[in-house]
Amino acid sequence: MICLYCGGDFIEPFSLHKMFFKERETACSQCLAQFERIKDPACEICCGTILENQKLCQNCKEYIKLNPNQPIIVNKSIFQYTNEMKEWLNRYKFYGDVTLASLFITDLKEYYQKSFRNFKIVPIPLSKERLKERGFNQVEILAQQAGLPFIKCLQRVHTEKQSKLSRYERLSREQVFSFCGDEKFKNVPILILDDVYTTGKTVRDAAIILLQNGATEVYSLTLIRA
Ligand SMILES: [Zn+2]
Ligand SMILES: [Zn+2]
Repeated sequence: MICLYCGGDFIEPFSLHKMFFKERETACSQCLAQFERIKDPACEICCGTILENQKLCQNCKEYIKLNPNQPIIVNKSIFQYTNEMKEWLNRYKFYGDVTLASLFITDLKEYYQKSFRNFKIVPIPLSKERLKERGFNQVEILAQQAGLPFIKCLQRVHTEKQSKLSRYERLSREQVFSFCGDEKFKNVPILILDDVYTTGKTVRDAAIILLQNGATEVYSLTLIRA
């Protein structure tokens, strides 16, 4: 087969599971091996790096201290934001090569099934303007290709590109989401899905809106932890 990522020829490793579920590897093992997974122990709230013998990272400790009345949203991430991952994200999200979602759909699906099986998935939306500019929502494409059903019930106000903002500017922005679902949730646990977790502001904003609209508990799963 031809590797979707490097263009090289490769022989797909045999797996009974993959044969049974008719799944195909789309990239060669060298390409897949260059992406670094997050290893335990990680911060119990944001999945970020922690100091030895700690449960929470400095940022989460600080956040809790400054915002004692805010809900705590636990985030799980699968991959580290390495240079190799930046390169993938660039090709996928900014150059719009949507076929590259296939590199990580097995990881996403497996993580969901292992940890969040009964959760309803809500992907982080793009603003109308951003969607028009990019042409696709990179998070929805990941979910679709992974065969994970999701609900679109959040709307996002158009703001400055997040990647252009400093950590402080990101954290001090106002709420950027509103609810646009047909009806409120009735006692369902929700899993927010996003591609990259940076300060946690996006996930927390979305979670607050979902909790106000009937979600019983909210977690987030992000492919990459920056
Ligand atoms: Zn390759
Ligand atoms: Zn943390």
